[in-house]
Amino acid sequence: MSKKTVLITGASRGIGKAILESFNNEYFIVGTGTSESSVQSILENINSMNIEGDSFKLDLGDRDSIKELTSLLDSKEIYPDILINNAGITRDNIMLRMQEDEWDNVIDVHLNGQYLLIKSFIKKMVKNRWGRIINISSTSAVLGNKGQANYAAAKAGIEAMSRSLARELGSRNINVNCVAPGFIETDMTKEISAGNEDFLASQIPLGRLGKPNEIAEVVNFLASDQANYITGQTIHVNGGLYM
Ligand code: NAP
Repeated sequence: MSKKTVLITGASRGIGKAILESFNNEYFIVGTGTSESSVQSILENINSMNIEGDSFKLDLGDRDSIKELTSLLDSKEIYPDILINNAGITRDNIMLRMQEDEWDNVIDVHLNGQYLLIKSFIKKMVKNRWGRIINISSTSAVLGNKGQANYAAAKAGIEAMSRSLARELGSRNINVNCVAPGFIETDMTKEISAGNEDFLASQIPLGRLGKPNEIAEVVNFLASDQANYITGQTIHVNGGLYM
């Protein structure tokens, strides 16, 4: 049987890197990063794991960069069977001070970028009558964190989009799900957690922040055949922060 191709956006660090590391050599892995050094570090990681794969540059905030990636993959006949939309950013500010570029940037990278990637890759999945789309959301989508109106709106949009897609694509054997992490120890949460670790932990029933691999394992499960009958769901992985 031929290897399934997995595309993971934002595979250079944090949760995306852990997702990449959760796959073995039964898969062909493609990871993206925003800079040459990120792309290089992903490739080194793939090589050190002795798995087949490749890495490419992608800026989801730039439509030309998305087009470049999709045509490059097309020219190399790399067609993702499993698309993991993980890359993300925050541009936190209370609404009174939120600048238009902070709003636009977050909506572009998360919602518009994912729309464009999904749209270009589902054609082949539909043709193959098999596919998996796993979108990384956030507890912010349901909790509505202060200072994160842009991010919460983008993530809630991703969850809603995923449910519509699950209905549209189910008959083609394409499953679409979200994983919504709580507070996970990555670069994204470094600033928020610095000096606040005890307070944050006190808000979480399991009493600690999560680790990237604790998200990756759920994503990997959703990509596996064990999850064949799961679609249109958002799986919350947050130590009980939201229930
Ligand atoms: P992270 O450590 O900050 O890593 C972000 C990743 O996204 C990096 O690989 C980065 O690439 C890439 N990226 C950044 N801007 C991009 C852009 N414009 N276009 C394409 N790729 C871009 O973040 P993380 O904590 O692992 O977060 C991963 C996902 O989980 C995000 O969707 C985030 O919203 C979600 N999430 C995280 C948490 C948390 O607590 N950490 C909680 C809920 C949800 P470079 O290395 O090249 O910059």
